[in-house]
Amino acid sequence: MKVFISVDMEGISGLCEAEDVIPGRRHYEAGRRLLTQDVNAAIEGALDAGATQILVNESHGPMNNIILEELHPAADVIRGFFKPLCMMQGIDDSFDAAFFVGYHGKAGTGDAVLNHTLSGLAIHRLVLNGKEVGEAGLNAAVAGAFGVPVVLVTGDSQTAQEVEEDIPGVFTVAVKTGITGLSSQAIHPVRAREMIRKQAKEALLSRSHVQPIGQKAENTIEVEFTKSQFATAVSWMSGVELVEGRTVRFHSKDVVSMMPVLQAMLMITGQVNRMITG
Ligand SMILES: [Zn+2]
Repeated sequence: MKVFISVDMEGISGLCEAEDVIPGRRHYEAGRRLLTQDVNAAIEGALDAGATQILVNESHGPMNNIILEELHPAADVIRGFFKPLCMMQGIDDSFDAAFFVGYHGKAGTGDAVLNHTLSGLAIHRLVLNGKEVGEAGLNAAVAGAFGVPVVLVTGDSQTAQEVEEDIPGVFTVAVKTGITGLSSQAIHPVRAREMIRKQAKEALLSRSHVQPIGQKAENTIEVEFTKSQFATAVSWMSGVELVEGRTVRFHSKDVVSMMPVLQAMLMITGQVNRMITG
């Protein structure tokens, strides 16, 4: 049995603010250790349920946060930021299930820890086939395109609520509750990891009850940026239409091929932002 794990950082046990999740900041090194241990708990749960192959894809910031020598040796790992499927790099139809570890709520979710969607700087709202999605909803649709169900998501309680609406039957572990977007009340990481291990096992054993989501023959995505200049520049890409001031839309047969387009859009916004801010 093959399991794919995408690991973000904002939803890791105990972490609650930028100091915890940005490389070089005061608590980042402690944050990396906590992240590695949450991933290990998910891996141990997967092994408890009979997983034979586990692939971990780093999905936060520079996408090399895991302390490799402390990662459970049963897993292989994809590191590095520059990859076309981004947080879902490595997924294919050979996997039996996917886990999202350390995920966070979509942009604008009140009090959800460090909530944003792909880029706090550039993206205000992402709408996939008429429904607003966060990273979990978007990435679950990518897994769904390969017929892979997302069976476990860990993060704060607001994120758990979001994914339970998006992914019927998904198992969740709420390791903390956001008080504001920059503070939280957390379950002690040791106990949170026990919960992750237990739920990971249960989720995998129950995987036949969780369906892959978002399998559609045609897909449309709307991106509402934070600034009109981002939308203007992005609309110069072939196939991308400017809907109004800050919003663009594009279509694709499958969600998978949308991922590199979204990545390219974010790279463009980075360049435009340098022109705006000087
Ligand atoms: Zn992140």
